[in-house]
Amino acid sequence: NLKSMADLVAHSKHRGFIFQSSEIYGGLGSCWDMGPLGVELKNNIKQSWWKAMTYRDDVDGVDAAILMHPTVWKASGHVDNFTDPLVDCKVCKSRFRADNIDLSAPCSNCGAKDSFTEPRNFNLMFSTQMGPVEDTSAKVYLRPETAQGIFVNFPNVQTTMRRKLPFGIAQIGKAFRNEITPGNFIFRTREFEQMEMQYFIKPGTQAEAMEMWKELRWNWHLENGLRKERLQWKKHEQLAHYADAAFDIEYQFAHGWGEMEGIHSRTDFDLKQHQEYSKKNLNYVDQLDGNKKYLPYVLETSVGCDRCMLAVMSDAYRTEFPGDAEKERVVMRFKPSLAPIKAAIMPLMKKPDLEGPATALLRELQKDFKCEYDTAGSIGKRYRRQDEIGTPACITVDFDTLTDHSVTVRDRDTMVQERVALDKVKSYIKEKFSL
Ligand code: ATP
Repeated sequence: NLKSMADLVAHSKHRGFIFQSSEIYGGLGSCWDMGPLGVELKNNIKQSWWKAMTYRDDVDGVDAAILMHPTVWKASGHVDNFTDPLVDCKVCKSRFRADNIDLSAPCSNCGAKDSFTEPRNFNLMFSTQMGPVEDTSAKVYLRPETAQGIFVNFPNVQTTMRRKLPFGIAQIGKAFRNEITPGNFIFRTREFEQMEMQYFIKPGTQAEAMEMWKELRWNWHLENGLRKERLQWKKHEQLAHYADAAFDIEYQFAHGWGEMEGIHSRTDFDLKQHQEYSKKNLNYVDQLDGNKKYLPYVLETSVGCDRCMLAVMSDAYRTEFPGDAEKERVVMRFKPSLAPIKAAIMPLMKKPDLEGPATALLRELQKDFKCEYDTAGSIGKRYRRQDEIGTPACITVDFDTLTDHSVTVRDRDTMVQERVALDKVKSYIKEKFSL
């Protein structure tokens, strides 16, 4: 099991999952780049979420722009309230979130006593200029959440898709927050991706919608292979003024329990605000209830894609001692459908006789899966490398293949090897690993 975040950071870099952003320039604080394996894993997580959330009768997807009309953020409350309390140490100039530290204690960085400034509110939104003129009218924000792109599109989606309540709108996209204290690898960063869904419902039905989505979202994390004992619910005791119920799904990360997903009942706060600021009528006409006009309530599910990926990687990471003959192995026990590489094809030796059938098999499997072709080093070493990146199937082409037209397929988790006919390999893998 993963002992420290540092082990995962090192492993991620070593095997090509995640690199520090702009590394050759010394890196940029808490920004990370997805490497070749990271982007596959992340795409698979997104695909799993997209399927679960939108391949249903009652949810459509959108992909809204990151830059939005500045009044959106006035209406949503972000311009005025999306702040964290900030203090500086007057001696070493370190910055802290005032609600995270004991202000009467010495500075944790330089040890100075009574050195903190008064807390002040710090807005977490990044702003930038739109167009060539640097005046205030051109100020726009990088969205701090994807949700507002959904709220402002509520009437568009409802009418074009001829939706009746309840229905949802889902979106995956980048969000930006100028966090005061980012950290813990990709747990808290300033640029991240969210996977959010707003479910528009008839007022009064929020309790049943909450029950339904709590169950669906909890099960989704389990289906991704996360261990149940590392997940827990946290009920918000103090609710935001617009919310009437809120729960988080927390995961036990290497640095402790942390929020991974929020499931919040937001009433009609957001639509009401946008109706007021845009002066557009956002009412829904309920044909099933005497053409009553009202603003729907919203049940929101919001999960950080990067945090989810951190949980999936933390959960999958194992060090094992598989028997006397073998040394310790690190293995990423990803659920096969999430694994970045599904199959590694390995000719026993670099000989044309073996490479011919091996590359033919590679071409065939590549039509359906991301595969690797590896000829370097002993088979044992090649297996280890694939274990470390979580590849479910290693396929060896050997000299027997030339006569029996079969290959050896080794299972990542059990390490059991089976002989499978060349023309059955694809269906064998598909079935065995539910791909
Ligand atoms: P936190 O309390 O950790 O700051 P939050 O309550 O502000 O999070 P929400 O606004 O509810 O978070 O955002 C929904 C989800 O987006 C979170 O559950 C988390 O998974 C993800 N998220 C939020 N902020 C960040 C961040 N800075 N880096 C990575 N993921 C984030």
